[in-house]
Amino acid sequence: MTALRERYLAEMGIPVWRLRVPAPPSAVAETAEAADVAAVDAVAVPMVAPAEALGTGEDAWAALAAKVKTCTLCSLHKTRTQTVFGVGRRDAQLFVIGEAPGADEDRQGEPFVGRAGQLLNAMLRAIGLPRNEVFIANILKCRPPNNRDPQPDEAACCTPYLAQQIALVRPRALLAVGRIAAQWLLQTDTPIGRLRGRVTTYGESNTPLVVTYHPAYLLRSPHDKAKAWTDLCLVKELLSRSQ
Ligand code: URA
Repeated sequence: MTALRERYLAEMGIPVWRLRVPAPPSAVAETAEAADVAAVDAVAVPMVAPAEALGTGEDAWAALAAKVKTCTLCSLHKTRTQTVFGVGRRDAQLFVIGEAPGADEDRQGEPFVGRAGQLLNAMLRAIGLPRNEVFIANILKCRPPNNRDPQPDEAACCTPYLAQQIALVRPRALLAVGRIAAQWLLQTDTPIGRLRGRVTTYGESNTPLVVTYHPAYLLRSPHDKAKAWTDLCLVKELLSRSQ
């Protein structure tokens, strides 16, 4: 393990364990088998298609951004400071999907800028993908009052925007962070502990989707950071496979 990798793991709060004796070849094989991503599970239900075709390229991004900025489809427009469209590379390999803007994001107009965002950045850096290399958006573009959970009707109104963003970026993989994003995208109420640690697919494009814990949860429950690390390694593995 490189010193740099160790530093990132330390930033994520993951202790680095070292084997006292070299692992026998069979142990290495078992580890690789456990992390096998070949068994891609197609349990995901395709979600709502974009409300309307917006085309592709710069014009499509501009049109979509304008629609989001002025959206009044649900009542959250009444309480938002501003919409939080999403940030990152428009040709990113990885598209990260969170739940909804919080107070910091509502103020700054950018997703994951608070404490949870700092941890998300460290998690991404740990797999060699700094924040500016990925695309990050949320299920909701507007902050729910008092950070309450998104309501199904709000998520339904907002999902066509997210679906259009995914269609424009055409990422190699999606990373859903947190229960809300994962359960909404997969249209299931299966607990997150059973959704994470595997590869499912999303939408008609069958884009590979990995679920992991929300960084805000990991700040409260650091004992689950090691599991999040294995999820991120799965993402890394997926991206290297589909090169
Ligand atoms: N939590 C999220 O799910 N998204 C954000 O943008 C910030 C916090």
